Amino acid sequence: MISNWLKKRRSQWKHLIGMILIFALVLAAGCVKTDATAETSIHSDSVTVMESSETETSESQLTESTTETTMKEIPESDTSAEGTSETESAATDPSTDSTTDVSGGVLEVYFIDVGQGDASLLCCDGHYMLIDGGPPESSDVIFAFLREHDIEKLDYIVATHPDADHIGGLAAALEASEVGRAFCPVLKYDNYSFQAFSDRLVRQQVELETPSCGMVFELGSAHCTVIGPTEESEKTNNNSIVIRVAFGNTSFLFTGDAEGVEEDSILKSGCDLASDVLKVSHHGSEYATTDAWLEEVKPSIAVISCGMDNSYGFPTAPVLKRLQQRGVTLYRTDLQGDILIRSDGVRLEVTTEKDTDQDVFTEPILEPSVPDDGLEHDYVINVRTGKFHNPDCDAVSKMDEKNKQEYHGTRNSLIEEGYAPCKMCAP
Ligand SMILES: [Zn+2]
Ligand SMILES: [Zn+2]
Repeated sequence: MISNWLKKRRSQWKHLIGMILIFALVLAAGCVKTDATAETSIHSDSVTVMESSETETSESQLTESTTETTMKEIPESDTSAEGTSETESAATDPSTDSTTDVSGGVLEVYFIDVGQGDASLLCCDGHYMLIDGGPPESSDVIFAFLREHDIEKLDYIVATHPDADHIGGLAAALEASEVGRAFCPVLKYDNYSFQAFSDRLVRQQVELETPSCGMVFELGSAHCTVIGPTEESEKTNNNSIVIRVAFGNTSFLFTGDAEGVEEDSILKSGCDLASDVLKVSHHGSEYATTDAWLEEVKPSIAVISCGMDNSYGFPTAPVLKRLQQRGVTLYRTDLQGDILIRSDGVRLEVTTEKDTDQDVFTEPILEPSVPDDGLEHDYVINVRTGKFHNPDCDAVSKMDEKNKQEYHGTRNSLIEEGYAPCKMCAP
């Protein structure tokens, strides 16, 4: 039973993590913040793994369910409950077209709680792929996770794009494990995280590759296809590597931070997008996960990876609404910690590290990151939405000129006039 195994592994490593981290801190050479050890102890101690008896109950219940059961029939309460829920892939799922022979194998996908960032670890038949490694602050989490799971070699490491919240922990991953092949949409990028990642690859004599769209590769009996980016974009997020992983009748879609622009270009390419599990793009940003995208992906389960009380206000209300309206079962790392989705090729079993009392479809309440200092600043108001932004906010560049109004004054005076601060830039 996976939970027993996990429990055993965790308890074996629990007392060693502190020591390992000291080495990690030295080895990761500046990738890890000095307060990382304390953070990891908390992370490790708060791990709750399902008791095997509960898992068995869940499994025996499932044995009685019929093949018509779709994931959309999971009771809503399951989405906020700690523990394990299982279901069978819908018989009518379009993704069954690409059925792969899994011969009794299992695909395990961990969405690791790395705070504000992304990190997914795929394990299949003793083969491993890490897609992103979270921010530099999560280096200790990534290092410990790979060591806990005895992963000496990652067959693949994927930096979906070089933003620090995705690539930051990858140097630590390369300290923990060897790697076979490494993918990134660019071969050069000017930030510390990319440099640290690239240095570790050089040390391992592994050449960084830019995978072309349409490239296929196997991870054990899981079949992986690179479906994006289809074209080069000036925006880092819209150059995100997007990978669809098919395992038996089940499928997963990993999207990095691709926004609507990249989603549209992938939609136009006409590739097979249908996936049971969607790693929601860009931490639930309202500029990604469009209706058109969801219409093609048709996920039954969605996972949002984001940090508790992050300053961007992720996940955003529009995306939560789009998912909820489609009856998608949602899991969130900010509320539920590490999320494990296990596929036997037919059924998906979801295990969460933590319980949450909060409705997963509730958007976070964003405290202003910069409290009003009483001074006058430049802001940009969107007269249509009634929101105000910092002039360098992404939303400003996308704003229709006719709705845009520049403002110089105090934050409080804007609020008194009835405008609300943007949840992305938190002015
Ligand atoms: Zn990004
Ligand atoms: Zn990101």
